[in-house]
Order: sequence, then structure tokens, then C-alpha cells
Amino acid sequence: MPFTVKALQKTGPDKPFQVVEISRRDPRPDDVVIGIRAAGICHSDIHTVRNEWGRAHFPLTVGHEIAGVVESVGSAVRRWKVGDRVGVGCMVNSCGTCQECLAGNEQCCTGTHGQSRGMVGTYDSTDVDGTITQGGYAQKIVVNERFVCRIPDALGFEEAAPLLCAGITTYSPLAAWNARPGSQVAVVGLGGLGHMGVQIAAARGAEVTVFTRTLRKQDIARELGASHVLATSEDGFFKAHRASFDLILNTISAQIPLRSYLGLLRPRGVMVNVGLPPEPLELPMGNLINGNKVLAGSNIGGIAQTQEMLDFCAAHGFGARVETIGVDQVDAAYDRVVAGDVRFRFVIDTSTF
Ligand code: NDP
Ligand code: ZN
Repeated sequence: MPFTVKALQKTGPDKPFQVVEISRRDPRPDDVVIGIRAAGICHSDIHTVRNEWGRAHFPLTVGHEIAGVVESVGSAVRRWKVGDRVGVGCMVNSCGTCQECLAGNEQCCTGTHGQSRGMVGTYDSTDVDGTITQGGYAQKIVVNERFVCRIPDALGFEEAAPLLCAGITTYSPLAAWNARPGSQVAVVGLGGLGHMGVQIAAARGAEVTVFTRTLRKQDIARELGASHVLATSEDGFFKAHRASFDLILNTISAQIPLRSYLGLLRPRGVMVNVGLPPEPLELPMGNLINGNKVLAGSNIGGIAQTQEMLDFCAAHGFGARVETIGVDQVDAAYDRVVAGDVRFRFVIDTSTF
């Protein structure tokens, strides 16, 4: 039987969040029902519900950084049992049979599955049954067992929840472009993603530099593992640090002067972008071609790699740095994220529903 749960919902970009009852599907044999304990607030949630990407389906519940406990399992579920500590990130389904899915890159799924095309996002995405998925700012979620990860015992729910998006989104490109001892890695933007990127790159042994707008966060950046902290607002910044980095991980949620950033790369250096500003960026090709540079993008990461990331963070003794809020504080929290006033992730305590 479908059932209802309390959730935070927005009916339009300018409307406040409201606590309402939303419906969760009748669990299928390969579904698990998860009681959500903590839900992180990602800047993608904000881009979505403020309709900055221009494609939101309202009314909508967002949230794709979910940590909780398995409450029941379908008859065909083999991987999970009641009581397991688990997380769900940005995907809740994919075709499972295309080359990408078979290689563990479900986020790049090219197949069709019922009415869905490609991977099914945790919210605002067309699910296999044609409904629009509703995310994790809620008491419970029903998810196919393949899209669930185990939260290591060493991580609390609140520090673990943001790893399901911010953690994997930075872990995956740092692994793909091999941040390692001896490499000079710059993490641009010290927000939710950036603060995970710094911790992960440092744990991989790279020498990490943080680019941030001002030096306000320099002490905590060093505590997270940065060897250097540079303020991009300083005069002559881009000239002073020309050709210094092997890998730049850009997490900024807004427009940046891309050509100036490419100038900071050494020859054959890589700038990998995960920030998703609504507006397109402009780039003269010469800035890419001179020095044989690579400009790349990266979208979250696959499920097996998400599990690997969770285990990596636990083994290295870190999670996300969070500020926990109640369900009535989310509108205010959004304004604070946009103002850069959070260290470093807001997490909703779902016991306040
Ligand atoms: P946050 O708001 O937590 O962090 C973004 C950081 O960017 C800020 O902390 C700030 O760093 C910097 N920043 C913000 N505005 C500006 C500006 N106008 N100019 C320069 N720097 C700015 O966001 P998240 O970390 O949650 O998300 C970052 C981006 O990544 C978003 O666009 C989000 O949609 C996207 N994203 C992409 C994913 C993917 O798979 N590729 C997955 C998840 C998110 P500082 O204060 O240090 O200057
Ligand atoms: Zn996210």
C-alpha cells in the first residue's frame, strides 16, 4: 500500500517551505523503506526550487543527501535488513543494463527503464512509473535496494548525510584525475562540496590549496587539510599564481572568469568543474589550447564508488562539518547558504517533523 509521510514541500520558487503529507509508493519486492534521520541541504536543492535551472516540477520536495535506518525490506531484497544504517544520494534508479550501468557509472546511464530515460534523480526526475520523484526532506523514503549505501559505524547520521552528494561529487573527480602525493591540487570555493574536496584531496596525499573569496575561513581550511589558502579577491591574484596547479576542482555555484582560472594550471593541467551555475560560461579556445589544458566536468559518482567514498572517509576519520537545523529553519538556511554563511553544510534533523 502507498503510504504518507511528513515532508517539506515548496509549491513555487517564491513560496516558503511547508510541512505537508506526501505519498510514498507501495514498496516493490526489491525496495527498502528508510526512516530518514538526517537530510543535508545541497546548493543543487536551492538552484532547483528557486527554479534557477528553469525546469522544476512543483509542488516539490527536494533533498538528496539522506542518512537513516532501514525500516522494512521487500521480499526480494538481499543486501539490506531492518536496522541497517544506510544512505541515499542523488540517484534512486537507472536501467541497470546499459554499458554505463554495468560499469558502475549509473549516473551516466544511457538506457530507458519504464518511463524514465537515463538515471532517475532522487527528486524532480521522471521515475520508471512516470511520477516525479520526491526527495529526502521527509520522514521516510522508498528506494530500490541497488541505490542504497551502507553508512560506516564510525560516522554519525548528520556528518554522513552530506557525503551522499558533496562527498561523492568531490571524491569521484579527485580519483578520476588522480590527486596524489606530489600533485598540486586547488579546490575552488569552500562550501559544502569544497570542504569535502579539501579533506579528500588531503587524505589522498596531495598538496591542497583553497581558493576562497576572502580569508575569513582560512583557519578552518587549514584544519581541514589545506596547506595554502588564497583569497581570489586580492589584487593580482591570477597573475601571482600563474601555472602553479596540476588539478583545479571548481565547486563554485556562480559564474567565474574561466579563462583566468585556466591560467593557473601548469601545462597539461586539468580543471574539473562540478559547480553548476545557471548561466553559461564564456571561454576563448586559446586559453585552453595554449598549454594543452583539459577542461572537464564531473557528475556525482556511481553507487559502488559512493560506498568506497563512505568507507574512505570513515577510515580517514572525517565526515562533513555540519550545522543541524529543524524543519522550520530551512528557508532561513537557504539564504545563509547563498550568502556563504554556513560551515559547511546544513543538515535537517528529521525528528523535528
Ligand atoms: P555552497 O553554496 O555550499 O558552496 C559554494 C561555494 O562557492 C561557496 O561556499 C563560495 O565559496 C563559492 N561561491 C559562491 N558564490 C560565489 C560567487 N558569486 N563568486 C565566487 N565564489 C562563490 O554550494 P555546494 O557546495 O552545495 O554546491 C556547489 C555547486 O555544485 C552548486 O552549483 C551545485 O549545484 C553543484 N553541484 C554539482 C554536483 C555535480 O554532480 N556536479 C553535485 C552537487 C552540487 P567561498 O565562500 O569559499 O568563496
Ligand atoms: Zn547535491
